[in-house]
Amino acid sequence: MNVKKKFFKVLSSTVIAAALLGPNVSFAERGPNPTGGTNLSTEAFLNYDELVKKLNQLEQVSKGKVKVEVAGQTNQGRSIHKVTVGHGDKVVLIQSEIHGNEKTGTVALLNILENLGQSNSPEVKKMLDELTIVAIPMMNVDGSELDRRGNEMTWSEVVGKFPQLSNVKPAWNYYTTPRSGDDYASKPGFDVNRDFNPNLNYVPKPQDFPGASEKPGWFITPESQTVRDIYKGLKSKFGKVDVFIDLHHQGFPYIEGTDDRVTMSISGKFVANPSTPAGAKYAEYADNFKYDFSRQLTLTAYNALQAKGNSVFTNISLYDQSIDLPGTALGTFALNGSGTVLFEVSGQTQNFGQKEKGQLVKTVETGLMGIINGVTDGSVHNLNPSDYENIPESSSTPGI
Ligand SMILES: [Zn+2]
Repeated sequence: MNVKKKFFKVLSSTVIAAALLGPNVSFAERGPNPTGGTNLSTEAFLNYDELVKKLNQLEQVSKGKVKVEVAGQTNQGRSIHKVTVGHGDKVVLIQSEIHGNEKTGTVALLNILENLGQSNSPEVKKMLDELTIVAIPMMNVDGSELDRRGNEMTWSEVVGKFPQLSNVKPAWNYYTTPRSGDDYASKPGFDVNRDFNPNLNYVPKPQDFPGASEKPGWFITPESQTVRDIYKGLKSKFGKVDVFIDLHHQGFPYIEGTDDRVTMSISGKFVANPSTPAGAKYAEYADNFKYDFSRQLTLTAYNALQAKGNSVFTNISLYDQSIDLPGTALGTFALNGSGTVLFEVSGQTQNFGQKEKGQLVKTVETGLMGIINGVTDGSVHNLNPSDYENIPESSSTPGI
C-alpha cells in the first residue's frame, strides 16, 4: 500500500485548478468541493504491485487472449505495461493515469480487459475479430505511486540524457515546489502530458526550451517516450492508430444552465483544426486530421451514457473546447491522424478520495464500451458529427 494514501491532503483552490487537463484553461475554478474534504483515502484504487498482479492474472485466465508486455520503464525503473486484446484491423489505444492522481481510468480499463479476455459471447468475439485494443494502464506509474500529477525526475537527469540542454532553462512544466499538497521540492517531476510533440521523431533542441503550455513538448521523459514508441509501433504494423482515448479527472463543474453536477466531461478537440486559420501552424498535419471522426467517437460515448437514462450517468458535458495543446498526448496523436477522445470524470482523488469510485468507474466503462461498440460495428460512422455541438457545455457555476 502507498503509505501516503492513508493521509489527508489539504484541500485548496489550487488543488482544483491543478486538477485540470491544462493549468491555463479558461474555467479553472469549478465551484466548491462537494465532499467537504473528509477522509481522502485512495486505497480502493490499485497501486503498482496490485496492477502487476492483476495483469498477470488477466493474462493467465484469458488463456492467451489478453497479452501483457513490458513496453518501457519509468524514470524510477518501474514497468510501463502494454496490454493487447483482439486481433482486428482497427486499432484502439487507451491510456490511463498519465496524471498519477487520476485513478478511475485504470480500474475501468482492467474491468474491460477482464470482460473481453474471459467472455465467450458472440458480441465480444466480434469485437476481438474487428479490433486490436491496446491499453496502457497507469502510464505514469511513478506519479501514481506518489498519488500526484507529475512524474518523478530531475532536470539534471534530463540533461544527462540530452547534453545539448545543459545551458537552457528547465522546461516550463518542471515542478520543483509544493503543489496541490504534493512534495515536488524533494521529488521534482514533470507534467508528462505536455511532453509530447506532433513530430514523433522530434529530438530536443535547446532553442525550444523552456517552452510553454500551448507549444509542443519534447519527449524528454521516459514515460512519454514509451507511449510514443507504442504508437509508432502500432502505426508501422497497422498503418494507423484509428482511435486514441486518454482517461483523466477534472474539478467539479456543472452542466451548463442547470444545477446538476457533471459526472464526466468529454471532448474530441485538443488542438486548433489545421484546416482553419487558427490551426495554420499545424498545416503539415492537415491531411491526416480527423476532427469529424473524433466528434463521432465522442458522440458514441455520450450516447451510450445517455442510454442509461434518468441517472447521474447522463450528466455529461463537453470539456473546454478552446484548448490548443499540441504537447498533450491527445493533441499530438490527433495531429498524427487518430480519432481522439478525452474523458474527464469529476473529482481528483485529492478531493474525492475513493468516494463515488464505483459510479465514476462505471461512467468511464460505459463511455469506453460505447466507443468500442461503435467502432466494432461501424455505427460510429453513421453519426452526424455536428450533433457533437449539442452536447451541453460545462459551467463553473450552477443554474446559469
Ligand atoms: Zn489529467
